[in-house]
This record gives sequence, structure tokens and C-alpha cells, in this order.
Amino acid sequence: MSPLSDRAPFDGLCPDCDGKLMCAWHEITLTYGDEEKHQKFVVDLPIHTCSDCGFETLSEYGVRLKHEALCRHLGVLTPAEIRNIRELRGLNRPEFAELTGIGEASLGRWERAEGVQSLAYDRYLRLLSVQDGIHQLKSVVPKLKDGLGSQDETSDEPVQDRFPGLFGLGTSIDTQNGFKLVPATKTT
Ligand SMILES: [Zn+2]
Repeated sequence: MSPLSDRAPFDGLCPDCDGKLMCAWHEITLTYGDEEKHQKFVVDLPIHTCSDCGFETLSEYGVRLKHEALCRHLGVLTPAEIRNIRELRGLNRPEFAELTGIGEASLGRWERAEGVQSLAYDRYLRLLSVQDGIHQLKSVVPKLKDGLGSQDETSDEPVQDRFPGLFGLGTSIDTQNGFKLVPATKTT
């Protein structure tokens, strides 16, 4: 067995042929973005390969590593860093969403590594890692709620959807979440 297996324990079987999956680290070239403007970068990932049929897959751990590598490549916060910012302030996701105007669903996707926040949201989140940033929002949010009246009680819409210009963050988040991460050719 490769000693590399110890770095990412995974004792699954091949979903195609029930053969044994063996783990080894490989340099993988990842591409993201649309076809015309896609970028490539290289990352070390633990690849589990079926010794019988050659099927290749990543464990959850590998998927998380891949997502973190993309975040670092893009220069944005990783899912764990976003969760830390929220938890350091003692806020759960609904509370953090209400305070920041960030959609709770978006926040959940970023923290679960299912989507990457836009640069604008990333910079916003970084400002919220400063205690003073949260204090500023806490002073503003009650007024915001007064202004919304009773509609706020019945609507599930995130605040920024009703005031699209308020934060100047636009709707680019959806295209950001559309990043496709596909393992490309092995470089080794
Ligand atoms: Zn197989």
C-alpha cells in the first residue's frame, strides 16, 4: 500500500466493479470559468483509483481540498474561514444572514463548499471579521427593519433582493457559483 494513503484514509470500493480503491497523491490541473476565459491551476489531490478498472474519484476530504485550493487561487476566503468569521461573533447562520443582508442559502453554500462567493461578498466578509464592522451593522439593522414594516415578517426573501442597489453587490453571485471544477489531465 502506498504510504500516501495514510494522509487521506479512504477504504471505499469501486462503484463500477467493486474493486479496491487505492489512494495516491497526484498533481491535478483544474480548470474553471467559461470555455472562452477559463483559467487553469495545479493542485495536489488524493486520487482514489480502482486497481481493476481504473475508475478515479475523490473522497469528501479531497473535494474539500480541491475547493480550498480554488479559493486560495482566487484569493478569497475558504469555507472554514467564512464559518470562523461568523462563529467568532457568536452568530448562527440565520442571525448572520439577517445582520449582513447576505442570503442564508448563499451563506450556507459558501460554508459547505458548494459555491464560491463573489469578490464583492468576499471583501464584505473580510470587513466583518473586524469587531467594529459587526457593531456598525448592529446599529443599522434595527432601523432597516423598522423601514420594512410588517412585510419583513412574512417574506422569506433576503433583504438584498428587495433592495438590489443597497449594497451595490449586484447579482454576480449566481455566475460565481456557476464555476465548474473539473479534474483535467494529470500532469504527472
Ligand atoms: Zn473498478
